[in-house]
Amino acid sequence: MSQGVLTAQVDYLTLEAQIGGYEAAAQRADQIEKVYASCANLIGAKPHQVAQVENATAAWNQAFHSLRLSEGDQIITSEADYGANFIAYLQAARFNGVETVIVPSDDTGAVDVNALENLIDERTKLISITHAPTNGGLVNPAEEIGEVARSAAIPYLLDACQTVGQLPLDVERIGCDFLSATGRKYLRGPRGTGFLYASDEILERVEPAFLDHHGANWTAVDAYEVRPDARRFENWEFNYGALVGLGVAADEALAIGLDRIEQRVNDLAEGLRSRLRALDLEVYDLGQRRCGLVTTSVPGVEAVEVKRRLAEDHINISTSSPASTLIDASRRGLPTLLRLSVHYYNTEAELDRVADRLAAHYDLS
Ligand SMILES: *Cc1c(COP(=O)(O)O)cnc(C)c1O
Repeated sequence: MSQGVLTAQVDYLTLEAQIGGYEAAAQRADQIEKVYASCANLIGAKPHQVAQVENATAAWNQAFHSLRLSEGDQIITSEADYGANFIAYLQAARFNGVETVIVPSDDTGAVDVNALENLIDERTKLISITHAPTNGGLVNPAEEIGEVARSAAIPYLLDACQTVGQLPLDVERIGCDFLSATGRKYLRGPRGTGFLYASDEILERVEPAFLDHHGANWTAVDAYEVRPDARRFENWEFNYGALVGLGVAADEALAIGLDRIEQRVNDLAEGLRSRLRALDLEVYDLGQRRCGLVTTSVPGVEAVEVKRRLAEDHINISTSSPASTLIDASRRGLPTLLRLSVHYYNTEAELDRVADRLAAHYDLS
């Protein structure tokens, strides 16, 4: 998190402690309202199309379950879709008889858009794609997929968890009906924040599976009315301190510029990939268009061990186990990967240091 994001949260929490939670929300109503516009601006949406929820998974689940798929319906998804999403597909199969079809990848490792088009038939009720998978630098062709979804008039849910804050996103150009995002990754926002975009067309058609008296009005003893905007997907209760932090994170990304962020992140990621290759390490990132996630492994050494070792050098990396993207990991026979995510604030000198430490620890050259 940036200092600005941190300060916004601390200030808000301090006010809550001083004057009370409801009172703070009333006093800061304008600031809270502005968060919707900030998140909307990040993705080319309008504020009424944004719902604030506690993380990307909650956003995705609200979208997915609002479609109420049933026996014989089909979901089309990508090979590197996120583990939590796949578990929802399996549940839909188990409880509702919904079938999931996986689009093969093209030569570059991205979703094969022609194959996707050929898979669509009258049973297809959802195209659900992860924009950039959790296990590598691949960026899927979201806009081309959107064209296919639009011309077949099939709802399109895009898991943009890894791309929001690192790539310029425009929901109109992508043509998705839903887009789910998190605060805590490339946006540099607080943990426990996330948001969902819902298009005007989909808002006409769906009602959340979980709906409370914030998402709907209880209008009579036996009646309720769903809110017209995307906030129908929210809960009544909020961590407002985190929410205002998210707004600042979105504003900061917009002030820097998403085009500039993408360029910088890309330069660093490619720089890191070439340093890793120079040490004869395998780089697993697929795709023609790539982003800031860089994945590799050290032969014969467990990923968690490498992570521990680098942590001692104050280099924070992550690992990605096969279970987070099981289809892709099985298909490619992937081990638990080392995931090195670069951001614009990283430096070339830091990339050198990662390579130096790996070389020193594991006798690479
Ligand atoms: C991290 C991740 C998620 C989950 O995000 P949360 O905010 O932790 O719920 C979803 N999809 C992808 C592709 C991810 O990498």
